[in-house]
Amino acid sequence: MVAIVEQHAKAAGLSAQVSSLGETTGPLLHISNRAAGDSRAGILFLGHLDTVHPFGTLEQNACRIEGDRLYGPGCYDMKGGIYLALTALGQLAAPGSTALPVDFLLVPDEETGSHQSRAAIERYAAQARYALVGEPARADAGKCVTARKGTGMLRLKVQGRPAHAGVDHARGRSAIREMAHQVLALEAMTDYARGVTVSVGTIKGGTVTNTVPSQCQAMVDFRVPDMEAADDIVARMRALRPVGPDVTLDIDVELNRPPMVRTPAVAALLARAQGWAAEAGFALEEAPMTGGGSDANFTAALGVPTLDGLGADGDGAHTLNEYILVSTLARRLAFWHLLLKNLD
Ligand SMILES: [Zn+2]
Repeated sequence: MVAIVEQHAKAAGLSAQVSSLGETTGPLLHISNRAAGDSRAGILFLGHLDTVHPFGTLEQNACRIEGDRLYGPGCYDMKGGIYLALTALGQLAAPGSTALPVDFLLVPDEETGSHQSRAAIERYAAQARYALVGEPARADAGKCVTARKGTGMLRLKVQGRPAHAGVDHARGRSAIREMAHQVLALEAMTDYARGVTVSVGTIKGGTVTNTVPSQCQAMVDFRVPDMEAADDIVARMRALRPVGPDVTLDIDVELNRPPMVRTPAVAALLARAQGWAAEAGFALEEAPMTGGGSDANFTAALGVPTLDGLGADGDGAHTLNEYILVSTLARRLAFWHLLLKNLD
């Protein structure tokens, strides 16, 4: 995939460099129309070349066009967005064709949390004036994204005391029983009015039915609208204490993606983008804050005005019904051309 995109960029006259992010993930691809020696802060485009679909999905879900829909794994999230932005940049490959130099950073691990690419994203973002992210446009009329919740994860382990469930029941300290208390305490941290959700996603514990279980582990997802809520939830999770006697909790909590907050600078960037969308023939509307995180969370947290959801219009992300609307591609390409060319 990286080789295909690299070739596409070079054929258009852009510079392209592939660099390794280690053995556990694919490489990073940097594409640019920056003139040699131009060190101005520019536009950072972010995209991801990975999908949620396992290898071989193409065999059951071939890339095909049916009516106005182009189907295929990753077409909407987010090959379509990368294709649109890269094609537009290819038309603006000559240095000086855009008001600001444009850097594309295409990462291999966004769907699993961008753990290996985060440092590179933040390094480029620190030198960027704006960040544009080609994640899918919202299925609801192709809206863009100006605010995303922060996402975090808690791994909670309970250590109890094993005992024979028949012979020695009173000596046992059930880790599952303790976890049941903790699950209820965690889920009670959900506050819809404030935009905070806590969801215990997986749980496993015990070994066999006739032993009081000494171990249980849960993985918990949480989403927060701003840093204040993030700090509050993290503090409350760290403050969890055992309910029953003789059990211990091991609490490992991390805010993976900080919240992307809609600042006045984001609103100003949106207004300009809306002007170019209108020129390209469509109304670029703004979606309400989404609970899903993306690499936009990292750039926004560094104070770089960021717009996301600027990719292809379609629906069905993360499913086999994923598609993009073919009839919207031409105007979205025209939009990307105007945006990259004129944004200053
Ligand atoms: Zn995506």
